Formats: sequence, C-alpha cells, structure tokens
Amino acid sequence: MPLPAPAQPSPMSDASTPTSFAALGLASALVHTATDLGFRWPTPIQAAAIPPALKGQDVLGLASTGSGKTGAYGLALLHRIIQWRLPGQRQTHALVVVPTRELALQVADALQSLSRGLRSPIKVVAVFGGVSINPQMLSLRGAADVLVATPGRLLDLAERNAVKLGQVQLLVLDEADRLLDEGFADELAQVKSLLPARRQTLFFSATFPAAVDALAATWLHQAVRIDLADPVDTSPDGSTASDARGRAAAGLAGTPRIEQRAIVVDTDRRTALLRHLVRQEAWPRVLVFAATRHGCEHVAEKLRRAGVSAAAFHGDMSQGARTDTLAAFGAGAIQVLLATDMAARGLHIAGLPAVVNYDLPRSAVDYTHRIGRTARAGSHGVAISFVSSSTEAHFRLIEKRQGRRVPREQCQGFEPRPVAASDAAETAEAVAPERAAGGIKGARKSRKDKLREAAARQGGRG
Ligand code: AMP
Repeated sequence: MPLPAPAQPSPMSDASTPTSFAALGLASALVHTATDLGFRWPTPIQAAAIPPALKGQDVLGLASTGSGKTGAYGLALLHRIIQWRLPGQRQTHALVVVPTRELALQVADALQSLSRGLRSPIKVVAVFGGVSINPQMLSLRGAADVLVATPGRLLDLAERNAVKLGQVQLLVLDEADRLLDEGFADELAQVKSLLPARRQTLFFSATFPAAVDALAATWLHQAVRIDLADPVDTSPDGSTASDARGRAAAGLAGTPRIEQRAIVVDTDRRTALLRHLVRQEAWPRVLVFAATRHGCEHVAEKLRRAGVSAAAFHGDMSQGARTDTLAAFGAGAIQVLLATDMAARGLHIAGLPAVVNYDLPRSAVDYTHRIGRTARAGSHGVAISFVSSSTEAHFRLIEKRQGRRVPREQCQGFEPRPVAASDAAETAEAVAPERAAGGIKGARKSRKDKLREAAARQGGRG
C-alpha cells in the first residue's frame, strides 16, 4: 500500500513554523475546530503568540496583514475562557476592542466559528455604533462571555449599565496602533479606567509606529514582543533591519504576496485609467481607495455612468447601507468598491485580487493596511497606486518607509502629459468632486489650457 503523501505546510506557514495546533497547548475541541475550518498548521504569528498567551503573558503581536492574527488571539482567548468560566454563571471575561464597526462584526464571526466545537457554547456579542443601542442591550442581558466592541458604543453601554467590565481578565486591542492614536485616545483612556488593573492584555497589528510605543507600555506588563511584520509595518524610518528575519519567519521570503505596481498618470485621467484597468484586468472585484467621501461618490458615479458596477463605501453612509454594500461587494454583486480609509484596516474580503490607490494614502502605515486587503491567507494579489507629478514625492516617501522601490509604469493611452500642461487640467479635476458636492468654486479650464492639453496629448501619444 503506498504511504500517504507527507503533509505540506500551508502557504501561510513555512519550514520554520513549528508544529501543530495541538502542540501549542490548545484545548482539543479548539484544535478540532481549527482543523475543521481548514487551518492545517498554525501560521507563524499563531505559533509564536499562542503559547505565551496561554501562559497568561501579555503579548504585543506584529504580523503582516492577512496572516491569521484573529486566529492567534481568538484561539488563545477561547482557551482561556474555557478555563475561567464557571458552570451556570456567565461573566464577561474577555473584551476585544476594534476601531471599526465592520471589524467588530468580522471578529465576532471569527470567534463564533472558532468556538463552534465547544461542548457548552460561548456567547460572543458584537457592539458598535451607528445602529440602535436597544437590540445590543437586549443581547447583553445575562452577559456575554466575549464582548467585541468599538470604543464609543462600549462606553455608551457601560454608562447605561448594560455591560460590566469588572470581571474582564483578558483584553485584546486589535489594530492596536490605530486604537492608541489620537483619534481614540480619550475613549480608550475611559475604557481602561473601567477595566480591572490586573488583567492580561494582548495587542495585535500589522503596524506599530514608534510613536505609540510609550503609550503601549502603559497598557502592557512585561509583554512578549513578537515581530513578524513587513519592515514598513513597524519601522518609522524605513530601516530594513528586521526585513530578512521578519519575512522569513512570516513565510513571506521569496515571492512577495502582494505585487506592488505604480502607474504614472495625470490626475484628471485616473478615472478613465481605472475604467480601462477594470476592463482589461477583468478583476471579479477590486477595492479602490480615494481620499474623501465625495471623491468616492464622484468616481463611483462616473464608473456607473460608464456601465461599470460600482459603489461607494464611507463614513457618511448609514450603518445599514455600509453593511449591505460590503455584503454585495463580497458576494460579487458590485465589481468596484470606492472606499475611504475606513476600509483600510482589518477587513477580510475573501477573493479580492486587487487594490487600487486612486488617491495615495497619507502615510506608509496606511499604505500597508490598504494594500493588505488583498493577498490574504497566503494568496497573492496586486496593489496598484496611481502616481502623478504632484504626488511623486509623496509616493517616494512611502517607498522609502517600506524599504522597497516600486517601478513606475505607464499605460498606453494614459501617458502623462508634460508637467506644465497637466497642471491646469489636474487642478480642474481635483476640485471636481468638491464642486459636485457644492464645495469649492472656480478653477474651470481656460481655452488656452484646453488647447495646451490637446497639443500635449497629441504629442504624448505620437
Ligand atoms: P486574519 O489575518 O486574522 O484576518 O486572517 C486572514 C485569513 O486567514 C482568514 O480568512 C482566516 O480564516 C485565515 N486563517 C487564519 N488562520 C489560518 C491558518 N492557520 N491556516 C489557514 N488559514 C488561516
């Protein structure tokens, strides 16, 4: 009888990734569920973070986007809850804080899946703003074993005595650097004041700029720091010291998971180029990042008028519309999703082959999270950035920070015009979204500009 073929590590692990889920010390029901979910081996971040987390240590876990961080803290958290819970009594022993509503739902779903093999069920409740608080209060009656929350809604619920955080023994900050930055600082400080001082704390992210290190130290106690992130993800200055080590440990050595491309294009030709790429590349779906809510609406509208199935996704939309749009995108009913950075962090959209930076992100950290929406769970993907003469310097900074140069390409028919001619046209395009929304006035192209443009276009194509 032929011997069974030796098992191959999953694309998310590599030869240096030790062992099996069972060897990490996880409860057997969790090991079975992980296997049922198709997780054959722990990913590197899971292999590194689960053992110290099971021992009760604080962990700062840094690993690339899409590398299984939710499973890393999720499995550890569920294992600890099995140990802590008492028969007939439900208390909130674990709190996971996330920056966006969509991420709250996604994490709660993942935890529910991971816990489905347990003999006595674990109650996971997601709470987030933008929807009525009453159903959430109802579902919190009798407490939840695990609460997944955005900070604002968590505080609202605490104020109404709908959640009790005094029994929390394990706190997870997912996308920790985002939660520690200015935007959430006050809310996070309040959340902290409601938690027991003696607790275990786990931080996870793909990025952790040095600026948040000091603040992190006030939350963590003798934390085990695990750094498997790409260099850009952690380095504020573009140093590549952890490059080889980090990439090898994350199983990313060799072919990069995300193929990064940069197309040089005049600002006013970006929508046409996007339309061209959507047609040419025939992506089943593509996530396109724009800088503003108006920009998203404006480009989505233009694409729709050209017969492309496109929608916008941003913070001005109702939560219902946000959820429906994301579901439609995931189900393939929408081909092009125009999103602000609200979609940059943590979202797992299965089978997303491409991300386009229509507008460049503000920082290298945002760039990492944006492009990390593709090539998840060991698959490959492409990230295309549109770069113009006015954003070239900014893109160079992003390249420097990630220690990687992205070759500039031109696309036939969309070659940039000489700088002087494109400037005027770009100004007009740049104000178009605002004008559509009743914003900035003026900056209409002059006759001379139009003539110059036409001449440049002819010259450029010849
Ligand atoms: P995350 O980085 O946590 O968003 O996970 C990205 C994707 O990887 C999700 O679809 C997970 O279900 C999947 N995943 C997590 N852990 C593993 C594993 N050990 N093996 C294979 N896939 C995994």
